[in-house]
This record gives sequence, C-alpha cells and structure tokens, in this order.
Amino acid sequence: MPKSLLIFDIDGTLCDINQPIPNYLLETLQQLSKQHQVVLASGKPFGYIAGLIRQLGLDNCMAIGENGGTIMYSATFPPTDYYQIEVTDEVQKIFFEIKQHYSKKFGQSIWFQPNDVNLTVFPLDIKNIKEIHSFAKQFESESINTYYHRDSVDFTPKGFDKGIAVNILLEKLDVDRENLYVFGDGSNDLPMLLKTDNSYLINAKLEGFEPKESFDGYDDLADFLKVNFLHYS
Ligand SMILES: [Mg+2]
Repeated sequence: MPKSLLIFDIDGTLCDINQPIPNYLLETLQQLSKQHQVVLASGKPFGYIAGLIRQLGLDNCMAIGENGGTIMYSATFPPTDYYQIEVTDEVQKIFFEIKQHYSKKFGQSIWFQPNDVNLTVFPLDIKNIKEIHSFAKQFESESINTYYHRDSVDFTPKGFDKGIAVNILLEKLDVDRENLYVFGDGSNDLPMLLKTDNSYLINAKLEGFEPKESFDGYDDLADFLKVNFLHYS
C-alpha cells in the first residue's frame, strides 16, 4: 500500500469543541501516523496544534494552522521547516486598528486568539457573539476577509485558505493527488475538501457539496480508517 497523505480538521471532525479526541479514534490515529503522513488542519494557531499533537503521540504529524496561514512540517518547537503567508504592512496596520477598536469598545469581555497571521476575536460570554459580529462589519475591506463563526470572528489577509495550503503540502511532500484524503465538517474545510475526490464529512452536511462518504460520529470514522488504511504484518 503506498503511503497516503491524510488531512484532518480538528474541531467537529476528530472531537467536539474544547474536548479531547475519543480514545478509539485516537488509538486509530496513532497507528495511522506510523504508516502514513497525517496532518491536522485547523483555524487554531500553530502553537495550539503542536501542543495537542505532542500529547496525542502522533508520529511525524504536521500542522496547518490559522486556516492555511501557516504550515509546520513537524509539531516541534522549533519546527524542522515551516511556511507562513506574508502579511503586508497595510494589513498589519488594519489588524492593529481593528484590535484597538475592539479593545476600546469591549475591554476584557473579549479575547484575542494568540495568532501569527490572522486576527480572531472571541466574546468571553457566547451570549455577546451577535454584538461582536455586528461590530466587525465596519472593518470589512478589500485587503482582508472577514469570517463570522458561531463563537468568534476571524479577520484574515486575502489570498489563502486550507485548500491553498494543501496544494503547497502536496508539492513539498511530492505526493500524488490520488493519495490525498481530506476529512472535515465545516465550510472553512471546503477549499481543502475540493482538492481531492477522496473527501469525507464527519457529522455534517455542506450545502452544494457531495463528499465521497459521510460518517455519523467519531467511531464510524475510526472504523473506516482502520479498514482502509491500516495494514498489519
Ligand atoms: Mg471543524
């Protein structure tokens, strides 16, 4: 069996938000990472994903952070090699101003995710998410994208996503696209799901998108991975 490149979103795909990966799926991922190249891809920053991978015990696992803004070729500090999108002076200035406006308006009732390239704002109390969203509208501009999530708002420099990061990885690792498998659950996963015919949805439906297969729950996903990717000698 040739080595495959398997890319997994984290939240909603491998586990519930702020919850650990269930044991059965975790054991499967640990075996998988010994035989294939596993990558975790998330909106979370690299430092968060690296700490997670360290404790999960996934061999040689790589990380795509901040929705494609960063790629780390090892989950170590420092990484063996990395890629990071360029954030122009103009965008840095815009982010600085947005941050100042948010701080002035909301003080310590919001939290900025510690990012390298994006600006992500969370309300501490989810009840205030509407206000956080409507405040973001005034900052929409041609140089940045604004994404409205159910728990946060993301401001990102234009011109990258998880799909573009997947293309960079394929080239860097010299993997054929037919050996690429992508697993996700949200609309921010769509750009990478569209990069392959081997696309899988977990606990989700995405309008206008037909995956190769869908799974109801993390155990179903683990069973699929075991049957299709693990070989025992
Ligand atoms: Mg997700």
